[in-house]
Amino acid sequence: MHDDWVRQIDLELDDELSLTERAALARHLVGCRHCAEARVNHLEMRVAFARSAGEPHARTVPRHPMRGRTLALWMAISLVVGTAAGWLGHRRWAGPSPEPLEATRASFVAQ
Ligand SMILES: [Zn+2]
Repeated sequence: MHDDWVRQIDLELDDELSLTERAALARHLVGCRHCAEARVNHLEMRVAFARSAGEPHARTVPRHPMRGRTLALWMAISLVVGTAAGWLGHRRWAGPSPEPLEATRASFVAQ
């Protein structure tokens, strides 16, 4: 039962609750110390995330600071670099080369 409210707290802090849901949550928090403390903990966790992200005055924090956008970005970058290096290697040696991947990468960096 409380778990449901804790989930609602998370959504509330992400600005994803309707006014009705928000009101219901507020009403529950008035009478439930357990959930009220959970909300404080969630808020403090977000403050810590915001600080570690260098934005101590941020209003909201991405729900998964590391797993979300950052990881997607890095995957996109490594995909592009990998493709470019592969393409470069293909152009230079015309086909799968006996050179190890490191050589390909070095020539890519040198360009
Ligand atoms: Zn509760």
